[in-house]
Amino acid sequence: MRNWKWMFTAALLVSVSAAAQQPVSSQPSTQPDAAAATVATPAASDAGAPAAQPSATGSQAQAGTAPAPTPSALPQPTTMDQVVDRFIEREHGLMKALSTRTPVVETYLQNLSADPQLGPVPSADHYFLGRMDMGESIDRKDYLKQQDKGMESRLMGGFNKLFKVQYQPLGFSWMVYADRSDFDRSHYDFHYIRREFLGDVRCLVFDVQPKKNSGKGRFQGRVWVEDQEYNIVRLNGTYAPAPKNSFFFHMDSWRLNLIPGYWVPAYIYSEEGDFSAGVKNKMAFKAQTRIWGYDLKKGDKDDELTQIRVDSVKDDSQAAQDASPLQAEREWQQQAEDNVIERLTRAGLLAPEGDVDHILQTVVNNLEVTNNIDLPRPVRTRVLLTAPLETFSVGNTIVISRGLIDVLPDEASLAAVLSHELAHIVLGHNLGSKYAFNDRMLFSDDSTYNNLGFRHIPEEETAADKKAVDLLNNSPYAQKLDNVGLFLKALQARSTQLNALLTTHLGNSLGENGSITRLNALSTQGPALDNTKLDQVAALPLGGRVKINPWDDKAEMVKTAPVAITSVRDKMPFEVTPFFPRLSRYGSAVAPAAAPTTASNSPSGN
Ligand SMILES: [Zn+2]
Repeated sequence: MRNWKWMFTAALLVSVSAAAQQPVSSQPSTQPDAAAATVATPAASDAGAPAAQPSATGSQAQAGTAPAPTPSALPQPTTMDQVVDRFIEREHGLMKALSTRTPVVETYLQNLSADPQLGPVPSADHYFLGRMDMGESIDRKDYLKQQDKGMESRLMGGFNKLFKVQYQPLGFSWMVYADRSDFDRSHYDFHYIRREFLGDVRCLVFDVQPKKNSGKGRFQGRVWVEDQEYNIVRLNGTYAPAPKNSFFFHMDSWRLNLIPGYWVPAYIYSEEGDFSAGVKNKMAFKAQTRIWGYDLKKGDKDDELTQIRVDSVKDDSQAAQDASPLQAEREWQQQAEDNVIERLTRAGLLAPEGDVDHILQTVVNNLEVTNNIDLPRPVRTRVLLTAPLETFSVGNTIVISRGLIDVLPDEASLAAVLSHELAHIVLGHNLGSKYAFNDRMLFSDDSTYNNLGFRHIPEEETAADKKAVDLLNNSPYAQKLDNVGLFLKALQARSTQLNALLTTHLGNSLGENGSITRLNALSTQGPALDNTKLDQVAALPLGGRVKINPWDDKAEMVKTAPVAITSVRDKMPFEVTPFFPRLSRYGSAVAPAAAPTTASNSPSGN
């Protein structure tokens, strides 16, 4: 059964490209969703409300396994001193509430070098992924066995010595709290600065200074405290003083109000480097750390054994009889597919089915319909939550990484990367059937990458690329393949510098040894890559399209209006940028309105 959904392409394009940076002649001065957000915020949750509102917030979905909000033991603050007492109390409350959690932590770091024309550009990159135990010591388990130890020891050596926990990597993930052990008045001085809105949330801003001789590695910087329950929602600064031969970097750490009463750490941006004339210090990088999967189960073995299950759809289509050999083969593949998808979701690597999949599935559908592809089972899509640029397929499910969706410039490019996996499915290149045996699903979350893999042999890769180009040429995207060619050129231009971003962990890489091979036939298509042309946007920065809810891992498309590119340095293809989430309170969710489609961005999407 097919739907002629490709008629909707124009509408889809708007939502897919809404987050894209596009050269537009006029730029709206305010965030378009500001008005909607203000209206949607219930008056009852305004300032002055009691600290806990269990009945109002408890009815919200999702809070099922969330820690219950704990009312403050302190009176409603009337002075700034009392506010300080309150947010110190709340910070310790947060540490306690999250102490049983083991979220996923991902850090993607780009070393920078100066390009006279483009400014600081990536010269190399590093990738870390693991689970963080937020108990007393903040421990970590790594998903990647060959983490970049050189980079870690250079940056994080101080952390090892100082906290003597077996905490190798990511000083980055340590920065979720200002001070894990001694965040109090005897170690710190607090100075009230001003009030300030972060998104929809009014905050009180405080500078935080460690007291003299209060020890090494103390937080130094600024905190933003929301003005209803007095939780810290943002930390910005560094740690000081650093132990010998080590280095604390600067960080900007953001929290989101995803569960009642708590603001959970979600994003950390770090940046070092000074490119002004005469500076000799060569240390220069920028890094994004994302935390998600707070709601994941702790992955201990006993737990897993009881959890293996396959959510099968009740078969009401066939008469009661044994499966034919072909049906049996398909059942078997479906079982494997379901196992893998379920296991990856449980490891915190795959988003649950959601909004983004609807967009992906529409694009896949456009390719299927125009190519008369009629598969026995519908093709499904899922979002891999990680940054490295990768796609793979298992059974009839196409998986595409968050990072790849982020950097794709338009819907045609999205169709191109999906078409390669669709081609594998159409050609019957099924790899996953061994995962129909449930014993193969019995592994710890952090060894996922050792136990699952979906890499095709070169012959299948070549065949899939060839088929993909055929599919694209017959599709509504046939006229837009120049953009795909441009994207591939942009990727090629950065491929040696962005080795970590191009290193896949489950599927085939888009290229090898600094050479992009995926959809090679399209790479000569389109205009030459020209960094000086402002209206040539070949690839986008990371983080512009897909937003992950760090509590339940749901993925959604970012809804922001395009911002005008005013210099070639604004293009930042494949690059890491600071975070600036629009903060809002739990339960005051802005209605999932359509993307702010304005007259200025809808034509450009066509
Ligand atoms: Zn492939």
